[in-house]
Amino acid sequence: MPEKVQIRAIKGVRDILPPESRVWARVERAAQDVFGTFGFAEIRLPIFEQTELFARSVGGDTDIVGKEMYTFRDPVETAEGLFKAAFESFPDKVEREELPEDIRSMLAQSTPNVPLDKWKKISLTLPMLSEAMAHGESVSLRPEATASVVRAYIEHGMHTLPGDVKLYYMGPMFRRERPQKGRYRQFYQIGAEVLGQSDAPGIDAELIEMLFAFFGRVGLEGLTLDLNSIGCKECRPKYVELLRAELLKVKDKLGADSQRRIETNPLRVLDSKAPDEQAIIEELPRISDHLCEACKIHFAEVRRQLDIRGITYNLNWRLVRGLDYYMRTTFEITAPGLGSQNAVCGGGRYDGLVELLGGLPTKGIGFAIGEDRLMLSLEAAGKVVAEPSVDAFIVWMGASTQATAIKVAQRLRAAGIKVELPPEEFKFKKALGLADKLGARYAILIGENEIAAGKFTLKRLADAVQTSVTEVELLETLRAD
Ligand code: AMP
Repeated sequence: MPEKVQIRAIKGVRDILPPESRVWARVERAAQDVFGTFGFAEIRLPIFEQTELFARSVGGDTDIVGKEMYTFRDPVETAEGLFKAAFESFPDKVEREELPEDIRSMLAQSTPNVPLDKWKKISLTLPMLSEAMAHGESVSLRPEATASVVRAYIEHGMHTLPGDVKLYYMGPMFRRERPQKGRYRQFYQIGAEVLGQSDAPGIDAELIEMLFAFFGRVGLEGLTLDLNSIGCKECRPKYVELLRAELLKVKDKLGADSQRRIETNPLRVLDSKAPDEQAIIEELPRISDHLCEACKIHFAEVRRQLDIRGITYNLNWRLVRGLDYYMRTTFEITAPGLGSQNAVCGGGRYDGLVELLGGLPTKGIGFAIGEDRLMLSLEAAGKVVAEPSVDAFIVWMGASTQATAIKVAQRLRAAGIKVELPPEEFKFKKALGLADKLGARYAILIGENEIAAGKFTLKRLADAVQTSVTEVELLETLRAD
């Protein structure tokens, strides 16, 4: 007999079980409520997108796109898809030429709805097209959601909506990172974005105010806000060059990762946690001394707007964030009880991103909260107290009482009370024992005597106090408690 191998969840992903899942739901409701009061509405996004979306927005040189995405080939089904796959497979064969006749007839048959003039610009032989078709389109599980929000904003012409477009989302993200406490391969984010024509610093400050209102609502305390401005496309490139020049002077003293980043992304060197690099990094030029006038003014006003709102922050010139699309304001919030993975939220401004993805010039800012870490921090603070899952356990005795028990259960549930109704008759002791183990607050006893008297026996399980109540009184007691 072959041994049966037990199938387990994949490395780095996990199940969230009750009662913990109830706390997750509560946190998500708090986000919906609080964000709603700031005028944000939910956007539900796809879990996978064209790989190119992330490559263009998050950036090809980042760890996320370079090595952490779950990417796969999806067989091509449409002419559009074939067109893209052909570009991906044979980028050098894109020429302005008439489509060869054999390809034209094949396309006309397989995708009659797509006008053939779309195809004039590629010159591929039939075998090449077949290869592209087999190769498929590259799609990726989303490693973050800002890119998708921006894609949706452009795709649905949301720039025509009145005022700033304020959206929030929640759901799983996927990155092939090394799993550890607070770092998973499928993790959950709650995020929000503001897109529109204005980059008023009041938007940045109100977004951060909303975050603190949310954290306050869920009871997360001891938070630290780190704040920085990383400049714009005027001043940042000059600073990055200066930084690169300074880093080259000390290259030999840096580790392999930082040495590589001098070429690929010098700002990321500032992120380094390597102990022997810290003294060197402290001596490097700081972006705050190299911001252009407009960025300086913007950053000063963001800080003033935070002051008005009573929000305190640390200025952290090394907070650059890993993603390419950020500019000007960047921020990160850390929480206690999390060890080294202590960032619960990261965010920043990304004014060029909509344009980069093919939309009109648009300003944008957003954040993403790591929900897994938020839960870990709440747990460490002893704040994860699951609500009881059963308010009342109905103990019915005698076959003739079941119909009444079902009706009582229906009415209580309609009133929002959590009711457990045994599907078959249990012995009295067994029923009460189960009620206790499930953590029910009350047992409702329904026997033939109770039905004859038109009253039920309500037993409070914490202290075994019993009362005889009508159905109306029953509902009132359960609701009040
Ligand atoms: P980022 O999109 O990298 O700015 O991340 C925003 C927040 O998501 C971080 O501050 C973390 O709280 C959370 N986060 C990012 N990556 C992971 C991961 N692999 N596992 C759990 N949480 C994560």
